[in-house]
Amino acid sequence: MSTQVKVKNRLSSTVQSLKPSGIRRFFDLAASMEGVISLGVGEPDFVTPWRMREASISSLERGHTAYTSNAGMLPLRVEIQKYLEERFSVSYHPETEILVTVGASEAIDIALRAILDPGDEVLVVEPCYVSYEPVIRLAGGVPVFLKTTMENQFKLTPQELETHITERTKAIIFCYPNNPTGGTMTAEEWKTLLPIIEKHDLMVISDEIYAELTYGRMHDSIAALPGMKDRTILISGFSKAFAMTGWRLGYVCASPDLLAGMLKIHQYTMLCAPTMAQMAALEALRHGRSDMERMIESYRQRRNYVVDGFRHIGLTCHEPDGAFYAFPSVASTGLSSAEFAEKLLMEEKVAVVPGDVFGESGKGHIRCSYATSMEQLKKALERMERLMGRLS
Ligand code: PLP
Repeated sequence: MSTQVKVKNRLSSTVQSLKPSGIRRFFDLAASMEGVISLGVGEPDFVTPWRMREASISSLERGHTAYTSNAGMLPLRVEIQKYLEERFSVSYHPETEILVTVGASEAIDIALRAILDPGDEVLVVEPCYVSYEPVIRLAGGVPVFLKTTMENQFKLTPQELETHITERTKAIIFCYPNNPTGGTMTAEEWKTLLPIIEKHDLMVISDEIYAELTYGRMHDSIAALPGMKDRTILISGFSKAFAMTGWRLGYVCASPDLLAGMLKIHQYTMLCAPTMAQMAALEALRHGRSDMERMIESYRQRRNYVVDGFRHIGLTCHEPDGAFYAFPSVASTGLSSAEFAEKLLMEEKVAVVPGDVFGESGKGHIRCSYATSMEQLKKALERMERLMGRLS
């Protein structure tokens, strides 16, 4: 008992106040059961394509085992610059505006730590990736949540944005294509928000980790819109598009003053991103496009399959235009997200994530990742159909 009290007091009050991830709690339960089909994890089911693995192995054979420059290997930053320009029409200077990080996760962390003073408010568009709130709090900031709805395809409206801005609002975090909803924003939709962002002089943190995973039209980066590059910190990485989650490689792009601030934190905390992972990323950008397109094509087929399947079994599901998640509503069953997810897991052994884990506006939904094989998706839908039959 006394040891427990002591240990608790050693932790800062901020850390003590953080809640453990709702996703983890659910998946620990699923992991303890046999025969569970998981639509829960937010990562590709593909192994990193061979060419990237081979590039990394070969770099090790050649003895490239030392630190790189703090900002990352210059040839990699040059490839990132070319890639962003070609794919999304955003232009960053490789020497002063691009920093290679340990996943997009580190990029989110250093972006917030670089810009926030204690008590600064950060707007977060809900439902949202589970890390934003704790990372804002760890950086001394205060998260303020903006709602989006299925009726509006989970897009942020100018009215919702304007309502929550105060004198303390410093920045807004966007994640489009979105985890968990699969929602996207077009250039025209972004343009409806720009006058408000400019009027209140907000900084934008744009997490574009799912930018390549769109179905129908190319991703529109907010940083590409007139006047936005200077106030935007663009974050992306290799985890999702190139199936490289375990390599821990991402990047952050911003104007030189902001980048210099983030570099200070990065050089004292990380020093540099792993060298062998940077080698694999270089190969991904130089020669990995066809591998990436092959994976995206299969996500597209799976997306169409699950969305049709959900509608067929009686769940309302908006058409996700990006990422690899569907976010159907389970409200028609009369159960809460958590009740539905628990029943589905315990009775039919299918693991999904209750939507309210991603914030209040995820209530009544479940997040289903379709980054899993067609065979598994088919079985999962059959099991869900059985549950729906019992619930109706
Ligand atoms: N941002 C979003 C929206 C994510 O969904 C994830 C991972 O699930 C990350 C960032 C973390 O990416 P990384 O693996 O590059 O750290």
